[in-house]
Amino acid sequence: MKNELKIYNSLSRSKEVFQPLEPGYIGMYVCGPTVYSDVHLGNCRTFVNFDVVYRFLKYAGYKVRYVRNITDVGHLVGDADSNAEDKISKKARQEKLEPMEVVQHYTNGFHEMMDIFNTLPPSIEPRATGHIIEQIEMVQQILDNGLAYEKNGSVYFDTIKFANENEVYGKLSGRVIDDLMSESRDDLKNQSEKKHPSDFAIWIKADPTHLMRWNSPWSVGFPGWHLECSVMSTKYLGKTFDIHGGGNDLKFPHHENEVAQNFGACNCAPSNYWMHANMLLMNGKKMSKSDDNSITPNELFTGNSAHISKAYSPMAIRFFMLQSHYRSTLDLTDEALLAAEKGFRRLMEGNKVLTDLTSTHQDGPAALDAEINELINQAIEHMYDDFSTPTALGKLFELVPKINGLKDGHLSLAEVSTETLERLKKIFNDFIFDIFGLQDEMEQSNGDGTLDGLMQLVIDLRQNARATKDWGTSDKIRDGLAALKIQLKDGKDGTDWSKI
Ligand code: AMP
Ligand code: ZN
Repeated sequence: MKNELKIYNSLSRSKEVFQPLEPGYIGMYVCGPTVYSDVHLGNCRTFVNFDVVYRFLKYAGYKVRYVRNITDVGHLVGDADSNAEDKISKKARQEKLEPMEVVQHYTNGFHEMMDIFNTLPPSIEPRATGHIIEQIEMVQQILDNGLAYEKNGSVYFDTIKFANENEVYGKLSGRVIDDLMSESRDDLKNQSEKKHPSDFAIWIKADPTHLMRWNSPWSVGFPGWHLECSVMSTKYLGKTFDIHGGGNDLKFPHHENEVAQNFGACNCAPSNYWMHANMLLMNGKKMSKSDDNSITPNELFTGNSAHISKAYSPMAIRFFMLQSHYRSTLDLTDEALLAAEKGFRRLMEGNKVLTDLTSTHQDGPAALDAEINELINQAIEHMYDDFSTPTALGKLFELVPKINGLKDGHLSLAEVSTETLERLKKIFNDFIFDIFGLQDEMEQSNGDGTLDGLMQLVIDLRQNARATKDWGTSDKIRDGLAALKIQLKDGKDGTDWSKI
């Protein structure tokens, strides 16, 4: 039986059978990072979640065009839509850098981190500043359709007019216009320019000190944040496309306003399915720098944080993320990471053991075939059911004791047919590497264990140097390792090493 893909659609608040606009093809847009600071672990979780979605859609046989943007203009401090400063402009002013230097620096860092977590690059990664002309065009279309108005060089989307004409406004976020009115800030300077507090800026007049600004028919200014995603998704995926994704926190105002803008410009919905990934927490609370309740990916990789007892590898962290469903919150704790690290090792070892197994069964179906095939089928079905990575993983973990049993003789290799064993090998491999995007870190860095041996030698040499107060040599070893992105961590049981 062919599996049917079901996706939870935030718009209908229900799981729906997925129907692409064009059979076999999928257009998917995911809101990318705002590149004014280092990417944090919460961002990484969302991008890993959508990486698994992308990987699974391809695995299921679709040709996917995956567009994930870089926000390099328009995202204002506090997500406001008025005189608040642009996040990138602000950083550039504070650091005395060109805005594009800020953008380049954090875009590079973002790409590096995505690489470390083994996420696939999107098919297209458009930048907002590369699409100013298209954004001006969309503002004009919305004005022409009577759903926006200009005031003192800024252009605002007329939410009340839109809400009166089209009941779609507020549907995605579940807010009604009264909420929208009361929730909108009225402490902003340009509030008086708006007809209603819930209206939002789609073009913002820049004051002369603003670093990033462009000519437009209305003023020298810059586009509103929500506009870029409406414009770039339309440009690369068409006016209506299949899937739009992002973190939960973007539902309102960002995605709600994107829907409004697309209707305002072309009277059509941007996306048929809206997917929202849930937030990453730490020790049960929202990650927050100001409450000292946050951790950076690098602190996790090196173990340099009071919140954790040791270093964790990128793949153990990726595995940890896969253990929860993308629509559930995920709580990062030291215990959960320790458990994930163990689980990751068990899965990888199971896979290694499996590779070496050979059936001794002669002909026809064998005793264990039905059970093994059923577990494999269930693992796949769970992925078709709204990308349920935790339950799919659960099925793989039901298979691991069988694999180990076949290896140590608790189960007989005569009880599984060659066909089933080969299928099991293929599916395990497909899941671990292609769908879950995990990598065998030991194999990558260690091969036959030579690296472990060499590292122990280096650690011993450094220990000797320190014992004889030969600081020159011990510093040289530390700096040399740092250049190779290898970090040493001294603990009470000796010195550990990890790749950063
Ligand atoms: P930003 O750079 O703030 O625009 O965010 C980039 C992406 O990361 C968006 O899809 C956000 O929804 C998502 N995101 C931000 N914080 C978290 C978090 N704590 N957990 C999961 N995703 C997050
Ligand atoms: Zn967006």
